[in-house]
Amino acid sequence: MTSSSVSILADTAARSGRRPGRLTIGIAAAVAVAAAISVPLWFRGEFILFVATQAGVMMLVAIGLNFLTGYAGQVSLGHGALVGLGSYATALLMVDAHWPFWAAALAGMAVSTVAGLVMALPALRLSTWYFALVTLTFAQVVTDLLVEWRGLTRGFSGIVGIPAPTIGGRPLTPTEVYLTVAACVVLAFLAIRNLTRSRYGRGMVAARDNPLAASASGVSLLRIKLFAFAVSAALAGLAGAFYAVQKSVLTPEDFSADFSIFFLLIIVVGGLGRLWGPVVGTLIFFLLPELLGPLQSWRLLIYGVILLVLMVFAPHGLMGMPFWQRWRPRPRPAADTGIEATRSIRRLSLRVHDLHKHFGGVAALAGCALMAEAATTHALVGPNGSGKTTTLNVISGFIRSDRGSVTIGDTEVSRLAPHAVARLGVGRTFQTPKLLNDMTVLDNVRLGGFVSERATALEIALGLPRGHTDRREGSAAAMALLRFVGLAERANDLAGDLPHGQQRLVEIARAMAGRPSLLLLDEPAAGLSMDELDRLGALIEAIVGLGTTVLVVEHHLELIARISRSVTVLDRGKVLAAATPDEVFSHPEVERAYMGREGSGSFK
Ligand code: ADP
Ligand code: MG
Repeated sequence: MTSSSVSILADTAARSGRRPGRLTIGIAAAVAVAAAISVPLWFRGEFILFVATQAGVMMLVAIGLNFLTGYAGQVSLGHGALVGLGSYATALLMVDAHWPFWAAALAGMAVSTVAGLVMALPALRLSTWYFALVTLTFAQVVTDLLVEWRGLTRGFSGIVGIPAPTIGGRPLTPTEVYLTVAACVVLAFLAIRNLTRSRYGRGMVAARDNPLAASASGVSLLRIKLFAFAVSAALAGLAGAFYAVQKSVLTPEDFSADFSIFFLLIIVVGGLGRLWGPVVGTLIFFLLPELLGPLQSWRLLIYGVILLVLMVFAPHGLMGMPFWQRWRPRPRPAADTGIEATRSIRRLSLRVHDLHKHFGGVAALAGCALMAEAATTHALVGPNGSGKTTTLNVISGFIRSDRGSVTIGDTEVSRLAPHAVARLGVGRTFQTPKLLNDMTVLDNVRLGGFVSERATALEIALGLPRGHTDRREGSAAAMALLRFVGLAERANDLAGDLPHGQQRLVEIARAMAGRPSLLLLDEPAAGLSMDELDRLGALIEAIVGLGTTVLVVEHHLELIARISRSVTVLDRGKVLAAATPDEVFSHPEVERAYMGREGSGSFK
């Protein structure tokens, strides 16, 4: 088949909406990868093998850095130093302590991981670019340490005579080392692929793009970032171990600042946050100049031109070009098990007592209190600025109150962080929807399942059954919830493409994916049509039917009267009245304060 007929076929497939299936792509990728790995073996040349092994080592680092920078959004300019630490640790243990390579490599990974976590600590406080500068400084400190700590590192003269890895006392040949590195690259790629497609990947992207949505879904921003660092640093350490035995000589200059920047270039050129980005980026930036041997003196110029052309024609990197869209497998149709998947909801009541909150001189809450029975709807109403959103923020842990308590079931939650409150079974929506606009609707809902999925990161990375179960059940539950809110047919659209009203519904579905005992809704009816308003009422009643307690902030009196068991009226942070809807709305003071004023049947 000629290449033009292939591209015509691809065009037709793209136009008719048919894309290659998962299995086809999987097999094609496996064959291509096996073929690519075998290429350096055909030549039987030492140099080619050396270059190919080194490319594999670089790929390991790039895959790890892409996980951290491309997915978790943390820019590290210190990865070269992490490779250096792994390298030195492995080499010293082998040369001075006569450890076998495999044990030394594990120790090297551990050293890099710990160093990565130390480097990560400022990430919790600083914004991206300040943090990047901190990592740069860290790299400088490490290089200085490698020079100055002569007793251990032998300073500028470096470590020489690092032996080859052995198996059963026999040293591996360069071909065997190459194949070992290649196998590690394939395994690392698969592990990272599994992780990025799991709740960890969604959690990382959410923490990067919309921290509020992440926290509300039960993602600990601190822990997910540390996790990304640990994985990324461990891969850098593993690469370092191979780097040491491959070069057999290490000096501090190997791990200068350019080395770190080189990895960033690789992943940017390949495509940040693209699975294949680091692989393609390494091939371009590493192999190309090596193959252009005779043009060695033109090397920098060629780099520069490639980079410029890329930035103009492929600002999202090579793997971020629209061309690849058609090679993405079509989304797997998610099974729909029905809403029973959400059955395991615990029925819990909500008690809010004497909340006070000042913002500077403004008293947003001055003794706010309310009580919602388990599996009922309680409405919180009041004019704008009366403290309704602040109350929801205090309950869900986003704002710490000055005084007062929040009790869900028997648990006092008012001192907990938002993700911890979410884990206890509190879901919420925001007054302006906080969705991940570049994720599909289905993935947005699946983010909400973060707290109810059970597989550990290790199980997911290794592709063990529990990870698959979570994935299958998670998308089935998300699909059922989308059907529940009436948006099943939009599952594979980007959330940002949905109109505002539908985004609110997606947010409700996301909150429900965590099987919450308590659901907090902040003005869910704002901007809905009459039709959608009716649907919303039915939806909230259905949610209560599942056993969830709903606290809803709303202005629409008809809706409140229809769905809520009890109502609390707030005014300037104080409770004006609390009773059944009928009683509250005929309360003279409430009527005097609001009804008479507008006569529109609305609290706005
Ligand atoms: P509502 O949701 O009832 O309209 P809010 O709870 O949003 O009211 O706000 C109550 C009061 O607290 C308002 O006066 C508002 O300006 C103030 N407020 C709310 N959040 C903050 C904040 N983060 N910083 C400063 N003032 C705030
Ligand atoms: Mg509000």
